[in-house]
Amino acid sequence: MSRVDGKGIALLLDLDDCNGCFSCEAACRETHRYPYDEDWMRCERREPFLVDGVLRQYHLVAPVLDKCAACYADNPNPLCVSGCPTRALKIGSLADMVKEAEGRHCSIFTA
Ligand code: SF4
Ligand code: SF4
Repeated sequence: MSRVDGKGIALLLDLDDCNGCFSCEAACRETHRYPYDEDWMRCERREPFLVDGVLRQYHLVAPVLDKCAACYADNPNPLCVSGCPTRALKIGSLADMVKEAEGRHCSIFTA
C-alpha cells in the first residue's frame, strides 16, 4: 500500500549521481543471499534518456519496500547505501527523503 503521510520508509536514488556501477545490486544480494532467480535490488542499463538536457542511462528497480523496511530496521546503514561509491542511494523516512531530493533529480521508492 502506498503512503502519503510521510511516515513510510523510502529509498532514494539520486539520478544526478548514480553512475550505474551495480554495487547496490551486489550489496543487496550479498546481504540477503537470495537465489539468482529472484530480483530484489536491480540496476538496469537503459537506452540513454535526457533529464533537463543531461544524459542519463541507469535505472534502479528497488525491492518490494517491506524488504527494505525490515533491512533498515536491522541496520540503518545497509550495505547498498554504505557501499554506493557516489552516495547516490539513501534510505530513511519518506519525509526525510523528500527533503533530500529537493533541487535534485531523484527517484523515490516508497512502502
Ligand atoms: S551503487 Fe550507487 S552509483 Fe552504483 S548503481 Fe547503485 S545507486 Fe548507482
Ligand atoms: S535496503 Fe536492504 S533490502 Fe533494500 S535494497 Fe538495500 S540491501 Fe536490499
